[in-house]
Amino acid sequence: MKSADIRQAFLQFFNSKQHEIVPSSSLVPGNDPTLLFTNAGMVQFKDVFLGEDKRSYSRATTSQRCVRAGGKHNDLENVGYTARHHTFFEMLGNFSFGDYFKQEAINFAWEFLTSKEWMGIAKDKLWVTCYEEDDEAYTIWAEQVGVPKDRIIRIGDNKGGRYNSDNFWAMGDTGPCGPCTEIFYDHGSDIWGGPPGSPEEDGDRYIEIWNIVFMQYNRSADGEMAPLPAPSVDTGMGLERVAAVMQGVHSNYEIDLFQNLLRAVADVTQAKDLEDKSLRVIADHLRSCAFLVVDGVLPSNEGRGYVLRRIMRRAIRHGHKLGQKDAFFHKLVSALVYEMGDAYPELTKAKAQVEKVFAAEEEQFAKTLEKGMAVLEAALAEVKDKQISGDVAFTLYDTYGFPFDLTADIARERGYTVDEAGYDALMEKQREQSRSAGNFKVDYSGLVQLDGATEFLGYDRLTETGSIT
Ligand code: ATP
Ligand code: MG
Ligand code: MG
Ligand code: MG
Repeated sequence: MKSADIRQAFLQFFNSKQHEIVPSSSLVPGNDPTLLFTNAGMVQFKDVFLGEDKRSYSRATTSQRCVRAGGKHNDLENVGYTARHHTFFEMLGNFSFGDYFKQEAINFAWEFLTSKEWMGIAKDKLWVTCYEEDDEAYTIWAEQVGVPKDRIIRIGDNKGGRYNSDNFWAMGDTGPCGPCTEIFYDHGSDIWGGPPGSPEEDGDRYIEIWNIVFMQYNRSADGEMAPLPAPSVDTGMGLERVAAVMQGVHSNYEIDLFQNLLRAVADVTQAKDLEDKSLRVIADHLRSCAFLVVDGVLPSNEGRGYVLRRIMRRAIRHGHKLGQKDAFFHKLVSALVYEMGDAYPELTKAKAQVEKVFAAEEEQFAKTLEKGMAVLEAALAEVKDKQISGDVAFTLYDTYGFPFDLTADIARERGYTVDEAGYDALMEKQREQSRSAGNFKVDYSGLVQLDGATEFLGYDRLTETGSIT
């Protein structure tokens, strides 16, 4: 079953259960300064959960584009290292706004996954986790659905604090949250990894495919949990992960959509080895960068734009690693439009714009990438304690346009670390100086015209690494 067909089947399934099909919202959350990017399907419904916005429907379903490259949910460092994480992915979701609750939510999910009419996934490959204190969810799984008890794992708060466990979901540090129950797929004993909740959980054997959140609280900045106006449901399933299951492959990068993108990357970069990690990173970053531009973000030195720049420069550097001396990233946009343009007409519409923004960033970074790499190689050859100094990382940032995480990414590949505290101290010093001297900013306004604009939240909200402070 192709990714596109799974997306369609999901929306159709929930539509047949009286859910309104709602289009994906922008990656730049509207009116939500607490959030860097849309990181889950529920983001566009935040105010509905809070009771501050009313819709004409009480059940909805979406295929939501998400980016997790900063803030509370950040998977940038996982890309290229796990089989299941992307910076950009599509989250399939169904939502109840004070309509149905635990019982229907669990039964809907199980029916969609296991019914022969829909996904028809073998029941004995599925594992379930639920929140330790949630007897209700546990009983539904064990008694109604009939999942064997040795495949239902109750996860408590031992993972780090009362509301920090994997089975208590929150969109960010504040906002709607609640206990959850998750469905995992066992990809087989030849792959490393242990069942959810085990010390080896982090591997790629048991892969989480679907999270069903029972939205019950609104967490405020001081940590207080106020009940929501009505118990609600928010679910999220990664399209790429369920596609891997349906296509009988173990990694998201082996699904139809990614195979085509990887081939395009290999063509453009003349890479021989389709398994090369760099191809995967470039294919992943191509998607997040393109959709961020579609949603009005431009590479810049601050806020959301800086996160985009960081992702783009990582992709460009991986091309360089593959021996690519000329600009290549913008040439990949056509392949992405071919793969995803049908589902996202806004991508097709913005194609020329995306190519232009990519090409401009490539051109700018090309001026310093080669020299910066030489500086880094020289430093790598010299250091003895396997740590790049903050000094070198700062020079690479300041003179050669290497974001800190780019230097760290290269260092990590070679088994080195970077002195982050040393780098931070130098950054802080520079910030103090520029605060008094006025700030130099790259002006892109003459280069590109945009429908939507990105909102800069200021350094007090977003650090230069993109996380919310
Ligand atoms: P994981 O534990 O694997 O990092 P998560 O618990 O952080 O996933 P949720 O916040 O529960 O993920 O999101 C709901 C679903 O979205 C997940 O069950 C998964 O299928 C999918 N998903 C989450 N993060 C990613 C990602 N970075 N890339 C692809 N799919 C993802
Ligand atoms: Mg995660
Ligand atoms: Mg998880
Ligand atoms: Mg989860």
